[in-house]
Amino acid sequence: MRKKIVAGNWKMNLEYAEGVSLFSEIVNMVRDERNGDQLAVICAPFIHLNSLVQLGTDVVGIGAQNCHQKESGAYTGEISAKMIKSVGCGYVIIGHSERRQYFAETDELLAEKTNIALANGLVPLFCIGETLDERNNGSYFEVLKTQLEKGLFGLSAEDFAKVVIAYEPVWAIGTGLTATAEQAQEVHAFIRKEIAAKYDEAIADGTTILYGGSCNPKNAAELFAQPDIDGGLIGGASLKSRDFVDIVKTFNA
Ligand code: PEP
Repeated sequence: MRKKIVAGNWKMNLEYAEGVSLFSEIVNMVRDERNGDQLAVICAPFIHLNSLVQLGTDVVGIGAQNCHQKESGAYTGEISAKMIKSVGCGYVIIGHSERRQYFAETDELLAEKTNIALANGLVPLFCIGETLDERNNGSYFEVLKTQLEKGLFGLSAEDFAKVVIAYEPVWAIGTGLTATAEQAQEVHAFIRKEIAAKYDEAIADGTTILYGGSCNPKNAAELFAQPDIDGGLIGGASLKSRDFVDIVKTFNA
């Protein structure tokens, strides 16, 4: 059985005390209310990671939102996968569309980041997704296939099996527009088919594929009920403890 995961992405939000407070609320609510084996993860800005790990990785996993592609060195202002691992994090988001768009991160660079994350024992939450134009002009399967091939399909089967994929249509991120359950399921099934073609059916079956894009407590149940949707990557709604935990609980509601 593949893992069911609901991961929050706080993006560039929350001062130190606000992060501690929100995370404490989330941990307590998940501890009291969790009703299944779904996994909650919070991906926070770097300044929060060390203190969040002290507050409860047994209940909620902790991840970063980016890492540098090199092991260490003269890269002023950057953070390595090894550093992220050293504070006790288990996850790192790689290839979020905001990093692709605003920081010009290419598929080739993201392949390097994925390699270094895996080499340091972090689970990459690897994001792919098409723009609105690409959806409207019908090229989205090609776009997603290229992102998979260049970003992930250079991995050995053993390494690929450790990766979590997040399908995040760019037009749905932070816009209030959500892919319909049918649209999301269509793409998730496509991703799984591509994985089976590249690796094998067992690896495809075992890969956790999350949906992200304006997911909230109201639409999560229908999305997560789809056979190829194994959870969500949640932006805005992860900044509200009640909403985030309600999404986590959707699996066994
Ligand atoms: C995201 O940033 O990964 C995301 C899905 O954001 P939102 O839920 O706010 O659309």
